[in-house]
Parts: sequence; structure tokens; C-alpha cells
Amino acid sequence: MTAPANGTRPILLIPPMDELAAEMAAAVFRSIGYEARVLEENAETLAIGLQHTGGGECAPCPSTVGALIAAMQRERLPPEQVVFFMPTACGPCRFGQYAHLTREILDRLGWNGVRILSPSAVNAYAGLSQKTRIRLWRGLLAADLLRKLRLRVRPYEREPGATDRAIARSMGRVTDAIERGDWRRVPARLEEATAEAAAIPVRDERRPLVGVVGEIYVRFNTFLNGDLFRRIEALGGEAALAPMSEWVLYTNHLQRLDARDARAGLAGWPRRLRLWAEACWVFDRWERVTAACGDPLLRDRHEPAIADVVAEGARYVPWHVRGEAILTLGRAALYVKRDGAQAIVNASPMFCMPGTISTGIFPQLERELNVPIVCNFYDGSGDANRSLVPVMHYLGEAMRNGGRAEVPAAAPAAAASPAG
Ligand code: SF4
Repeated sequence: MTAPANGTRPILLIPPMDELAAEMAAAVFRSIGYEARVLEENAETLAIGLQHTGGGECAPCPSTVGALIAAMQRERLPPEQVVFFMPTACGPCRFGQYAHLTREILDRLGWNGVRILSPSAVNAYAGLSQKTRIRLWRGLLAADLLRKLRLRVRPYEREPGATDRAIARSMGRVTDAIERGDWRRVPARLEEATAEAAAIPVRDERRPLVGVVGEIYVRFNTFLNGDLFRRIEALGGEAALAPMSEWVLYTNHLQRLDARDARAGLAGWPRRLRLWAEACWVFDRWERVTAACGDPLLRDRHEPAIADVVAEGARYVPWHVRGEAILTLGRAALYVKRDGAQAIVNASPMFCMPGTISTGIFPQLERELNVPIVCNFYDGSGDANRSLVPVMHYLGEAMRNGGRAEVPAAAPAAAASPAG
């Protein structure tokens, strides 16, 4: 992607899937010459998106389209200077259509000059330069770590807002280092963030751990999910969220499974070796380095290996069924078996295909794992999170009585939508 002929820098607009990860990505793109900004999403931008889409798309689609159109109109951006960041994928899901539909809508509005930067999960985002991929990966890991610190400390903070302020300060220091291309300083900045979070005065109390899994956009997006994590905290729990890096590791893992399945004999070994080396030296290595920056505060929040998540999920969905259902199911099972979660929230956008699959299978997990599992569908309206109220009340009572919460025999897996 090159700058327009008049020499102005491309304006890269990034959907705010997750505020921390989007700001990290913006800092990475600014470090390589873009004027990168994170789009704003709210009820007004969602309404704009709904006007320009068909009504049957899953919720992140109108939300991202609306955010883009609102920014174009509000800031009167020159289309030929604008680049919209919209990764893509294939498989049993609509995500692969987002970039195409956005293209159609932009053309319909006469904004043919807007370009869409759309690296694909099919080849583990190989369309980006290797340097940019590694930088984005490290930025994503940094966002995952800061988010974990926030979720680990905030439920127990004595002074409301202290954790959010500390994380915002840390975020500023990390993005500043990234933007200046000073990557050697990033681990030290993350260690400082951990030390600052660890110094926040906290209450000595026990809370039930709630594992949050599900579709990647709505799981992170506090606008669409009705600020799910704060709601869990307000209801007496501590949320643990499957990180964004999980999806990238999964796309890499799929490539390795595909290469193994291709049965290309000796001819396939160079590719398998390349994938193995990349996994070890780029993805796994930086994940380990970044995770270590969160110790000791996050020592009990390290992620399981992606192969373990997929293997666990494959007990319910074959790995050949690509997409998020296998991750959602596998990580939920590991949250309970490995991390001691006492409840699971499966967050899906309205009309989500993997979300519908996982919601259909979760009653089986609920019986096997003996913890409550709440499946919520979100569309940016209503209060889907009210389904958590009885579950959290029950968990809190069980914890106060000194016991581990157990699902009563008659309790079905809850599936709630804003309308229902
Ligand atoms: S995972 Fe669900 S919400 Fe996301 S693009 Fe696919 S179908 Fe839509």
C-alpha cells in the first residue's frame, strides 16, 4: 500500500474491535508511515451501518460499516487518501464477506477511491510484510497482557477507577515506544505496567472466576457486548477473557494441520519446516516473552497451548470445521478444567454462525463440566447481560457459603438475546 501521488500519508481507519488492540495496531501502522486512527462505535454509528446493510448480517458488520461511514462524513475525509483495515477469512462464517460488502457499499456511496487493506487468515495474514506481521503480533500480545492485568486487578480495587487509570498510563507508554519503533523497550514498559497494577490497593476478597469465550469481535467490543466485563464485576465476579492472540495462533495451527494432512511426502517438508520455524521463533517466542512480563500477577492466567484448545474443542466439533466454534468450546472446557472457572459466558453477535453452533453444543458441556454456561447473543441493543444476574447471585452465595458452585440438575444452559 503506497501513499497517494500528492505525497500525503494514507489515512488508515481501524475498527475498534478492542480498544487496546486497535490502539496498538494503530501505533504499529503509524510507525510504518500511515496516519492510523481507531474508529468510533456507538448507537449512532450502528444505526448508520444498519441503514446501509441488508438487516441479516451479523452485528459486527453494520457496526464496522457504520463507524467507517460516520468517520468519512463527519471528518469529510478525502476517499483517495483513506484505507480501511478489514482483515478477512474463509470458512463456515460470514467474515470473509465483510470486506466485499464494505467495498460494494463504498462504491454505492461514490467513495470508489477508498481502499481496503484486507490481509487474510487463510494464509495467516501473509499478505502483510513479515516485519509488519511481527510488529502487529507483538502489539496484539501487549494489548492482551494489559487487558489481563485490568481484569485481574479491577474487581478488587479499593479506589474505583484506579486500575483503568493505571492501564491507560501504561497503554500510553507502550504505544509511544511502538510508534517510535523502539521495540526493545516494549517488554520493559509491560513489566512497568505489571508493577504499577500490582501496586494498586485491593480488597482481600474471593470472587468466582467467569471465563468469557465466543466470537472475537463481540467478545472484546464493549459497545456491542454491553460492557460485559464490568457487568460481571458489578455482579461480584472476576472475568477471564480468551485473548485475541488465540485467533492468530489458531490460524497458524490450522496451516500446520493442513500441511500435515496434505500428505505431500518429502515435497511437503520445506513448507512444514517453514511453518514450524515460524511458529517457534516468531509466534510462540513472542507470546512467551510477553506473558512473562505479566508475572507474578498473571502467573495463573497464562494461556494453554493452542493445540490443547483445539484438541479439547475437537471432542465436540471436528477441527476441519473451521472457525470459532472449536475455540469457543475448547477454551470454555479448559477454563473450567484447568483454570478453575466457576461459570462460562459464551458471547456471540446476533446471527453469528459459529455462535449458533457452540450454543447448540454448550448444554452438553454444562452437563459434563457441572458449571453454569450462559450463551448471550448481542446486537448492540437491549440488555442481554441481564441473564447473568441470577447466575452470579447463585455463584456469590455458593462462594460465601464456602462451597464450589454446582449446577442444579434441572438448570438448562441459558441462551439469551436482547429480545428474549
Ligand atoms: S464469527 Fe459470527 S459474527 Fe463473526 S463474522 Fe462469522 S458469522 Fe459473523
